[in-house]
Amino acid sequence: MLEIKNLSIQTEDKKILNDLNLKINDGEIHAIMGPNGVGKSTLCKVILNDKNYLKKGTIIFNNKNITNEETSNIAKEGIFLINQNPIELEGITNAEMLRTVLNASGKKLNIFEFSKKAKEICNELNIPENFLHREINLGMSGGEKKKNELIHLWMLEPNFIILDEIDSGLDVDSLKTVEESIMKYYEKYKPSILIITHHKQILENIKPDFVHILKDGMIKKSGDYNLANYVEENGFNNI
Ligand code: ADP
Ligand code: MG
Repeated sequence: MLEIKNLSIQTEDKKILNDLNLKINDGEIHAIMGPNGVGKSTLCKVILNDKNYLKKGTIIFNNKNITNEETSNIAKEGIFLINQNPIELEGITNAEMLRTVLNASGKKLNIFEFSKKAKEICNELNIPENFLHREINLGMSGGEKKKNELIHLWMLEPNFIILDEIDSGLDVDSLKTVEESIMKYYEKYKPSILIITHHKQILENIKPDFVHILKDGMIKKSGDYNLANYVEENGFNNI
């Protein structure tokens, strides 16, 4: 479903990724682990064609070359990213954004369907229904932002989810709610998931089929869940 071929990324003065290859089939869960600053977040952003980077290589999604596609079109194709630090968007509420995006992607809900679905999601996530009418992520705590992004996930129903350190900054209860919500979504829609994390803990609940170690700009090692155990015990130095 998603295939990244020979991807090299740099900024004006720094090489970040070097000839990276990765293939994620429908319904698979892949985890990427790696030390700080190796380019994990950059990879996530580049999949959605963040224009801040110089890029070589090809990214194919559902047989379509999306390497240079507009971010909004990539999102319409069904790729959804929850950023490590979700951005705050002043002046537009969750509900306004979601209704606009749903209309633009041909998944229009009438006002009653929209409101019913959105309220159910808020209740599941244990956040007040008035979040729907707040400006996107504005003034929200770290944990609330991640839950707010999950409202978007459930409303937009993407089939490829990228989670960039969704566990960072969450208290134990919020983390549990977030993990359960993601697994519930996975059971219902069977999307592909690319999850970036430093900690094995979240992978106990969002269990990956494959674990990859990103280091020196490339995937240095791939394996199954046991590779996450190895990293937990031995760190990244010997990989
Ligand atoms: P990770 O998520 O693995 O911790 P990042 O992808 O955030 O790492 O960053 C990788 C490296 O690239 C870091 O050294 C970071 O400072 C640098 N970097 C990322 N984005 C930019 C950018 N837009 N401009 C300049 N340097 C960047
Ligand atoms: Mg990062």
